[in-house]
Amino acid sequence: MSVSENIVSLSREHDSRIREDRRVIHRRPGVGMEVEETASFVAKTLEEMGLDVCRGVGGIGVVALLEGHETGPVVGLRADMDALQIQEQTELPFASEIPGIMHACGHDTHTAMLLGAARILSALKETIRGTVKFVFQPAEECAPTGGAPAMIADGVLENPAVDAMVALHVWPDLPTGKVGIKTGTIMGASDRLDLTIRGRSAHGSTPEQGVDAVVVAAQVITALQTVVSRSVNATEAVVLTFGTVHGGYRYNVLADEVRLEGTLRTLSPDVRDVLPGKIDTLARGVCRGMGGDCEMHYERGYAPTINHPETVSVVRGSIANVLGERGILEIEKPTLGGEDFSFFASRVPSVFLWLGCRPEEIAPEDFPPLHNPRFVPDESCFSIGAAVLAQAAWDLLKKLGGGVSA
Ligand SMILES: [Zn+2]
Ligand SMILES: [Zn+2]
Repeated sequence: MSVSENIVSLSREHDSRIREDRRVIHRRPGVGMEVEETASFVAKTLEEMGLDVCRGVGGIGVVALLEGHETGPVVGLRADMDALQIQEQTELPFASEIPGIMHACGHDTHTAMLLGAARILSALKETIRGTVKFVFQPAEECAPTGGAPAMIADGVLENPAVDAMVALHVWPDLPTGKVGIKTGTIMGASDRLDLTIRGRSAHGSTPEQGVDAVVVAAQVITALQTVVSRSVNATEAVVLTFGTVHGGYRYNVLADEVRLEGTLRTLSPDVRDVLPGKIDTLARGVCRGMGGDCEMHYERGYAPTINHPETVSVVRGSIANVLGERGILEIEKPTLGGEDFSFFASRVPSVFLWLGCRPEEIAPEDFPPLHNPRFVPDESCFSIGAAVLAQAAWDLLKKLGGGVSA
């Protein structure tokens, strides 16, 4: 039996255990860094496999090492463990037992699949030359901070130093049996900005005696849309959205302050670097021209997730090894959604994959998307995800020079 055949057969063998682990995790979700139950379940499960486990990395993260029979390169596989503040409406028998918290982004499945990959690779341990590092991180949903930076600061990419990294996300747009892959940017940068616009109060009947911050804010919002349309090349993808507008205190009084909260999504690091300055200059110019002023607070969040070309070509082969060529789906357009994996991908050659999780017979428009209280991924994609992760680690170790003894 070839190694790929072995991996696929092991993934089938462990399929029911992966589903079971995911149900355990799904029942007891936590948000942000508060994933104690999941983290200790993960650590305990990895210890039972005989792996060298480190708890409390970057707060509550868990890291496990699988050493092959000889030292060699190091490949990292990463899963996220956190859930969302959403009241589950799936009516599943294993639905969340924690009120108002649900695994609506599928991170429960990522965690269970990575445990599955650890099981598969443990069975192949004697044939592996090199090390696989399993990284379970909290707080993926907590932009702009995230959970990855604390783990990186705590040395997750060192001792031993990671040479390449792979992660996946369940993707409802894609049917089960397909894995989406793309060279270059696959997920966007997500930054946050707050603008405080200041005017001067006066009676609503005598606006000439003050500066109406509401009218100034209206001009600022409109003017800033032109930063996107007039100062960025039209082939670049950029979105500027203000999600909240707060200001004023009485119907007949000029507001002296309006606060805008928004998000800027970009794909290109250059566009991301240049836009905050342009936004600040234009917002100030509009405010000052109207007699007011403004202050911008800009917080850089997740960088774009950029897939490394050579690593992509190895992992494309891994998908083919598991599913055949027809399992590969070449993604044409990235999404402007942010992803905490970008912190790893900007330091280590990496690949982020989209795992099809929609039963083929259900149309995309009828399938609840990520972050929806009715999101339920197809369980039959789990063994595929576990096999792809295991195969990718195996292929990358081989490519990086460690090789695998036959
Ligand atoms: Zn999410
Ligand atoms: Zn997610």
